[in-house]
Amino acid sequence: MIVMKFGGTSVESAAAIERIAGIVKARAERRPVVVVSAMGKTTNKLLAIAAAAIAGHREEYIRQIHDLRDYHSREARPVVPLDQRAELDRTLDEHFQELTELVKGLAVLGELTPRSIDAISSYGERLSSFIVTLSFQHFGMTAVHLDSRRVIVTDQRHTQAAPDFAETYARLAATIPPMARDAVVVMGGFIGSTKDGVTTTLGRGGSDFTASIVGAGIGAEEIQIWTDVDGMLTADPTILPGGHRVKTISFAEAAELAYFGAKVLHPATVLPAIRKSIPVLILNSRRPEVPGTRIVSEAVPCSNVVKSIACKRKIALVNIHSTRMLMAHGFLHRIFEVFDRFETPVDMVATSEVSVSLTIDNPARLDDIVAELEQFAEVEIEKDQVIVCLVGDNIRHTPGVARRVFNALDGINIRMISQGASRLNISLVVAESDLFRAVPALHQEFFAELDPDVFERREAVDA
Ligand code: ADP
Ligand code: ASP
Ligand code: MG
Repeated sequence: MIVMKFGGTSVESAAAIERIAGIVKARAERRPVVVVSAMGKTTNKLLAIAAAAIAGHREEYIRQIHDLRDYHSREARPVVPLDQRAELDRTLDEHFQELTELVKGLAVLGELTPRSIDAISSYGERLSSFIVTLSFQHFGMTAVHLDSRRVIVTDQRHTQAAPDFAETYARLAATIPPMARDAVVVMGGFIGSTKDGVTTTLGRGGSDFTASIVGAGIGAEEIQIWTDVDGMLTADPTILPGGHRVKTISFAEAAELAYFGAKVLHPATVLPAIRKSIPVLILNSRRPEVPGTRIVSEAVPCSNVVKSIACKRKIALVNIHSTRMLMAHGFLHRIFEVFDRFETPVDMVATSEVSVSLTIDNPARLDDIVAELEQFAEVEIEKDQVIVCLVGDNIRHTPGVARRVFNALDGINIRMISQGASRLNISLVVAESDLFRAVPALHQEFFAELDPDVFERREAVDA
């Protein structure tokens, strides 16, 4: 069995769905289990509907729900078998009626809880997985739908739920192999449910994580992440379109890149796969002939020191200064206790005798954090910062990488720099306004020459 996950753009239209049907059909003998994201930008649209509801904008959310139904119906219709169209209409009616009731309820309450956010955002994957199942039948496959909420069991941390691996693996192993014996199993990514059956989600971009959990749970031979780029590239294409394809990368490197902003992979994806040593591939559903990126246990030897440059944007730099606490023990403990209490992860830290600088990517509780820290220190916040992270297994063996970074960034103010504890990354903080100078300069420095065993030079840029 293999797991094939298709992201939002890979199922955004009738044409895209037809393309993925062809891709899955061509691999039918490997017994694919298919995980799909919501179609196109549906998750964002559902969240916008929820926001309009609690703001009391009734006409707006009614229109948005209407448009979303039209979109699903329009794109699904051409790829659903004629004799299933009534079934399609019935299911769309049922789901959109339910959604409308839910949203009206929210409008009355005027309050959006994480639990209701999950209830609403789950409709994207529930609809897409249903539509894709019918479309696979239309294109001549035997396909069955599996509601992911029956098998992905999570805790109750709505919008960021963590799977209960033991229970989930047991359910996946009991449910999927018999279904997959003579049919393509299709399920939605991103969604799960608590033991009591309340709908949860795994966090934005979480369908990659679902694919990896499913792969680990059924002991798949491979997990394929099909997306809209040729694989892991040497730089984020939204910042630098001229990146090259990384042919192979280690689990550790991929995890680091994902954590530091390479959206092509959800950061939690590699863990279940590592534990069961299942290779993960990143592939392009628009160009299935491209071999993509293979993520494997150990990095292959490579003459380049860096594999890729990731960027985490919208970072806040928190500078904490205390003369009173000069060298006092317990100072760091007190600081981190505050971040812990407000459930805010810290990405980078630098200390001096009397001050600590750190970065956070989630400012939701920043005001509370500052108020607490100001009880014992002076605090200064700088917003609009970016972490630029160079990742490569060779960084740990190669002297002089930091020197090359400083040379390449001559004239750009580096606010912070650290060589990660894993020793396979060097991260630096620069102002957002320097990002589009910094990344090309670093890319030029580290990727002018390419080891042909590990990279494929791309002259053309993705459409
Ligand atoms: P999907 O909907 O298929 O899950 P995502 O939008 O979540 O797709 O992820 C794919 C996107 O990740 C690409 O379109 C690209 O803009 C972005 N990306 C960021 N960093 C990288 C990188 N290093 N390599 C490839 N893509 C990247
Ligand atoms: N549909 C979800 C999101 O947009 C999950 C995913 O696409 O991976 O975040
Ligand atoms: Mg994604």
